[in-house]
Amino acid sequence: MYTFNPGPSQVYPQVRQYLQDAFDEGWLSAPHRGEKFVQMMRLTVQELKTKLNIPQDYTIFFLSSATECWQVLAQSLTPTKSFHLYNGAFGQKWYENARALRPASVGQKFGIDEVPDTDRLPGLDEQTDLVCITQNETSTATQLRDGVILNLYNRLPAKALLAVDATSSMAGVQLKFIKGDIWYASVQKCFGLPAGLSVMVLSPRAIERVRRLNERSHYNSLADQYEKMLNFQTTHTPNVLGLYLLNRSLHDNPPIKTIHQHVVERATKLYDYFDQATQLRPLVSNPETRSYTVIGLQAAPALIEEVRRRALAQDLFIGSGYGELKATSLRIANFPAIPDAAFEQLVQFFAKEFS
Ligand SMILES: *Cc1c(COP(=O)(O)O)cnc(C)c1O
Repeated sequence: MYTFNPGPSQVYPQVRQYLQDAFDEGWLSAPHRGEKFVQMMRLTVQELKTKLNIPQDYTIFFLSSATECWQVLAQSLTPTKSFHLYNGAFGQKWYENARALRPASVGQKFGIDEVPDTDRLPGLDEQTDLVCITQNETSTATQLRDGVILNLYNRLPAKALLAVDATSSMAGVQLKFIKGDIWYASVQKCFGLPAGLSVMVLSPRAIERVRRLNERSHYNSLADQYEKMLNFQTTHTPNVLGLYLLNRSLHDNPPIKTIHQHVVERATKLYDYFDQATQLRPLVSNPETRSYTVIGLQAAPALIEEVRRRALAQDLFIGSGYGELKATSLRIANFPAIPDAAFEQLVQFFAKEFS
């Protein structure tokens, strides 16, 4: 059985051994204030920075989900309002989550084949604390290329920080962390690990803001988490098993540059194939906005259903559409933990049954 579901997704096969080792090495009962845990946290932070090319002066936080990151960013880094530029369900949920806490927050939607014009953002003003974008919108299978993020970063109002949801791209493609203040992802997507842990990365500028605002009224307030992370500790008993799996898997995986190349090559082949060879069409027609890590296909609802049903009969689990696109699209995760053999089987399936 292979799963192409874009989260929770196929985990790395090594996870089986890591789980056994975690049990045998006593991690499941390890005290989170002890030297053994602190040492593992220190190494995990270092592995993340090395393997994902995160600048050394950025600070790493561990939370439980991307959704928790939305919440924490509104609580701890948004005294007034945030501005949200989005084209799909996850970006919109982030906006709604922020607006529930900071009603002055503003959203601006763009089309899935559209490269947003960073010169024309009417809702973005000097009162904005946080500019929020989704680097890889899992629901529409689109991405914002480096150039768009760079343009936006260069045009930020003086006070604003740039926050980037990279949930379905971090650890799959190379991100230019230096061109953003806050980046986060949960591990059940491109990290190829079980859910229950997220990684949030803050620039020195964002850390300075955390310290100045010093918001401490929630259990997961960033000022408290920052204080603890200075000593590689957490405010509460953390997901030690999740952290251990992350540590092992980062250690054994190649650097992001290698993974990135492989993911992009595979995406290119898949788009080439689906552009021509099947009854389905890529959901996104603009090659500039197509995601590398999530391939969306569109067709009439009956065909979508039949494809997913017949694939499943051959032990291939294809992701459904999401949100508004649920009935008329399907999504194929192109995450690094899914082996090439799985994609060969998938393409054969389409060639035989839906060409
Ligand atoms: C999956 C996903 C989320 C939500 O992640 P959780 O870990 O379930 O909170 C948020 N944003 C994007 C882009 C996602 O793909």
